[in-house]
Amino acid sequence: MDCLNSIAPTDEELISFALDDEALPAEANNHLQQCETCQKRLARYKQTNTYLLSHLYRSQCPSGQELSLYCADLVPDEERIRIANHVLDCPLCANEVAETRAFLRTLDIEQPVPSFSLRALLHPIFATRVPCKECPQNSTSPPGLYLPTVTSHAHSHSCVPR
Ligand SMILES: [Zn+2]
Ligand SMILES: [Zn+2]
Repeated sequence: MDCLNSIAPTDEELISFALDDEALPAEANNHLQQCETCQKRLARYKQTNTYLLSHLYRSQCPSGQELSLYCADLVPDEERIRIANHVLDCPLCANEVAETRAFLRTLDIEQPVPSFSLRALLHPIFATRVPCKECPQNSTSPPGLYLPTVTSHAHSHSCVPR
């Protein structure tokens, strides 16, 4: 698959364009827009690029879970620096980090941080199972169910406190 046009980008030019996003000479670029053969050449190099990336880079990449924790700032400092350095070099992980961060941002929008807490989320469950000091009719529940973390929960269930 070779283009015989004299202004066609050379293999080297196409490779650096495909792999490094290096700009083509204007003339070659114009030619590329119009030449199916050169577009195919470029596509082939890009494919090779993706293949190389997924096989070379991936062997040193942190796991998906590590990356997620990294995005959520849940890894120890040492680990964070290691992953940050890797992400600088690895387009695949950089991409994954960008996607994960974007995803985390959408979560933030749906569940605004100030009002979001695990406790608030779990409260309705505890409220029905945990004896409430303010509700005499609940005080017969086994004491073992009592969880100290909910001592001051809002009195949102239907019983009337005395
Ligand atoms: Zn061409
Ligand atoms: Zn990587």
